[in-house]
Amino acid sequence: MSPLQTPHATRVLEDDLLARTPSRLYVDGRWREASDGMILQVEDPATGTTLATVANASVQDARDAMDAASRAQSSWAKTPARTRADLLLAAHQTVLARAEEFALLISLEMGKPLDQARGEVTYGADFLRWYAEEAVRISGRWSDSPDGRSRLITMKQPVGPTFMITPWNFPLAMGTRKLGPALAAGCTAIVKPAPQTPLTMLALAAVLEEVGVPRGVVNVLPTDRAENVAGVVIGDPRLRKLSFTGSTRVGQQLVRDSADGLLRLSMELGGNAPFLVFADADLDRAVEGAMIAKMRNMGQACTAANRFLVHHDVASDFGSMLAERMTAERMGRGTDPDVTVGPLVDERARIKVGELVREATSRGARLTTGGHAVAGPGYFFAPTVVQGVPADARILSEEIFGPVAPIVEFGDDDQAIALANGTPYGLVAYAYTADVDRVVRVSEDLEFGMVGVNQGIVSTAAAPFGGVKQSGFGREGGPEGIEEYLALKYVGLAV
Ligand code: NAP
Repeated sequence: MSPLQTPHATRVLEDDLLARTPSRLYVDGRWREASDGMILQVEDPATGTTLATVANASVQDARDAMDAASRAQSSWAKTPARTRADLLLAAHQTVLARAEEFALLISLEMGKPLDQARGEVTYGADFLRWYAEEAVRISGRWSDSPDGRSRLITMKQPVGPTFMITPWNFPLAMGTRKLGPALAAGCTAIVKPAPQTPLTMLALAAVLEEVGVPRGVVNVLPTDRAENVAGVVIGDPRLRKLSFTGSTRVGQQLVRDSADGLLRLSMELGGNAPFLVFADADLDRAVEGAMIAKMRNMGQACTAANRFLVHHDVASDFGSMLAERMTAERMGRGTDPDVTVGPLVDERARIKVGELVREATSRGARLTTGGHAVAGPGYFFAPTVVQGVPADARILSEEIFGPVAPIVEFGDDDQAIALANGTPYGLVAYAYTADVDRVVRVSEDLEFGMVGVNQGIVSTAAAPFGGVKQSGFGREGGPEGIEEYLALKYVGLAV
C-alpha cells in the first residue's frame, strides 16, 4: 500500500470526525453561515483534496463579532476570576479528554504527523490550565505617597476586546496561547484563524461554548478575506488590542494599520534561528536536539533551526550524523502512525524551499541528503542537509520553513556569535556545549528573545515566549503572558 492510501477504517473515523466538527462562524454564541453565504475550502496538504468547506466570514460578520465582543466585555471583566479560571480549567480538561480527536484534526488540516499533533494538543491545552492558575493571581499594589498625604493604589484591569490573528502551523496552540491569558485577564476575543486550518479553532470554540464561556466572549471568524475583515475590526474604536502571530511582513503592516487606534500590540513574528554546535558538545545529544529543532512541523515553525553553525572540528561528523537521521525519516500522510515527516502546507511553500536549496547548491553548497520535492500527490519535500553553504546564500537569511538543514562552519566563539547575531530576526537561538562558562557568555551575547541550551525546544506554557528585533515584541506564556492583556490603573486617594 502506498503511504498515501488511507485504510478504510481510518477513513471512516476521519469522515466521522470531520462531519462532527463545526463548519460555521461562531459569533455572539451562535453558529452561523457567512452573511454573504461565501465558503472556503480546507485542503488536506498530503493529498491536495478538499477535507471540508467552512463559512467564510465577511466584513459584516466582522462587524457583528465586534458588536458581540464589545457587548460582552463589561460583564466578562466583572465575572469573578475564580469563575473565569474554572471555565478555563474545564476547557483544558475537555480538550485533553478529546486529545485524539484534536490531534487527528490538526494532522488532517495541517499535515503534521499524529505524534507531533498529540504534542501540540498537550502543549496547547496547557495554556488554558496555566492561565486558569494565573487568573486568580492578578494583583495590584497599595502604597503611601512620600509626603504621607495620599494613598497610591495600582490595579490591573482587562485591556478590553482583543483581535487575535493566528497562523496555520500550530492551529490549536497559537490560539490557546492568546485565548488562555486573554480570557483569564477578563478580555473578550475575536479570533481569525488561518484559512488553511480553521477546523481546529472551530472545534476549540465548541469546547469553550460547551463548558459555559458566555456568549460574545469568544468569536471565531475563519475567512480568506483577511485584509478586509481585519480592516473592519482594527478600525473599530471599541477594539483595544491586537495580538498577531505570523510573518514579519504582515506584522509590520498590522502595526501600521493599528496606529490610528493606538492599539496595545503583541507581535509574534518570523525567526531565523541559529543552532550552534561547539567543539566540546555531546554530538549525539546535539543531533537529537537538531532533529527536534529542525524537523518539528517539517521545519514549519518560527522556532525552527534555520542555520546550523558548527565548529570546524566537528562539522563533518555532525553533518553526516544529521544526514543519517534525516535519511531514516519516514515521509507520508501525518495520520499514518509510522510517519515522521508530513507534507508542507501548500505548493507555494514547497516551491520556495526548492528555490532556496537550488540557489545554495548553484553557489557551491553540497547536498548530503535530500534536496528535492517528492513526486505524487501532496506537497512533500525530502529531508535535506546542505553543507559548505556560502555566507551570503539566501537560505541563511530567509526563513526556510521546510525540512532543510544548511550547515555553516565557524572557527571560534566570537565568530559563532557574530554569525548567529547577523540577522535582523531575534526569536530563538540554540547552543550545544559542555562548558558552563561558555553557556553563560553565549546566552548573554545572543541577541534573541529565547535561548535553548543543550535542548532543541524551548516552548512551554510556563515560560515567556517571544522575540526581539524583527521577530516582534510581547510575550506569550509564563507569568508575563497575562500582562499583555492587562492595563494598569493608578488611583490617588487623599487621606
Ligand atoms: P502570514 O502570512 O503572516 O499569516 C498569518 C496570519 O495572518 C494568517 O491568519 C493570515 O491570513 C493573516 N493575514 C495575512 N495578511 C493579513 C492582513 N493584511 N490582515 C490581517 N491578517 C492577515 O504567516 P503564515 O505564513 O501563515 O505563518 C508563518 C509565519 O508565522 C512565519 O513567519 C513564522 O515564523 C510565523 N510564526 C511566528 C510565531 C511566533 O510565535 N513568533 C509562531 C508561529 C508562526 P491569510 O492567510 O488569509 O492571509
